[in-house]
Amino acid sequence: PAPQAVDLNEGLRTTCRLLAHKFREAGVQLQQELDPALPLVLVLAGELNQVWTNLLDNALDALRGQPGALVRVASRHDPNFVQVTITDNGPGIPTELQSQVFMPFFTTKPPGQGTGLGLDLVQRITRQHGGAVRATSRPGYTEFEVCLPRQAAVQ
Ligand code: ADP
Ligand code: MG
Repeated sequence: PAPQAVDLNEGLRTTCRLLAHKFREAGVQLQQELDPALPLVLVLAGELNQVWTNLLDNALDALRGQPGALVRVASRHDPNFVQVTITDNGPGIPTELQSQVFMPFFTTKPPGQGTGLGLDLVQRITRQHGGAVRATSRPGYTEFEVCLPRQAAVQ
C-alpha cells in the first residue's frame, strides 16, 4: 500500500470503537481527547491502526479487574510532529523491565496470552514512518507516546 495523507484522529476513533466492547466488558473506561486541529500526516493508515490496537490491548490487559480503571487516548501536534499518547492508570511497568518491553518476545503474560511481539511491531511501524515511540511509567501510571513527523518519509 502507498502512504496516504490521513487524519490520525479517524483511525484512533475507529480503533476505540472496535475495542469499545472489550473495554466495557472489562469495566475499563476509555476516554478520547483528540486535537481538533490535528494536521494530516502521510502514513500507512492500516499499520498505524495496528499500533493503536496493540497499545490499547496492552493497557486493557494491565487494567483488567482494577476498580476505577481508565485509559486515555490523546492526540496533539507541534510545528514538526504529531503525537499520540495512550495512558492508563494500571500498575505500571517495573523500572528494571522498562528497557526490555520493546524487545521481540518479551512478555510478562502467561503462556498463550502474550506473544511479546506487540510493542516490537509498534516500534517498527513507528520507525518506518520516521517517528519514535517512548514509554513513561511509574506505579499507577503508564504512558506510551508515538511521535510522527509531519513531513513523514515512509520507508
Ligand atoms: P504482550 O502484550 O504479548 O506481552 P507486548 O510487546 O505488547 O507483548 O508487551 C510487552 C510487555 O510490556 C507486556 O507483557 C507487559 O509486561 C509490558 N506492558 C506493555 N504495556 C503495558 C502497560 N500499559 N502497563 C503495564 N505493562 C505493560
Ligand atoms: Mg501486547
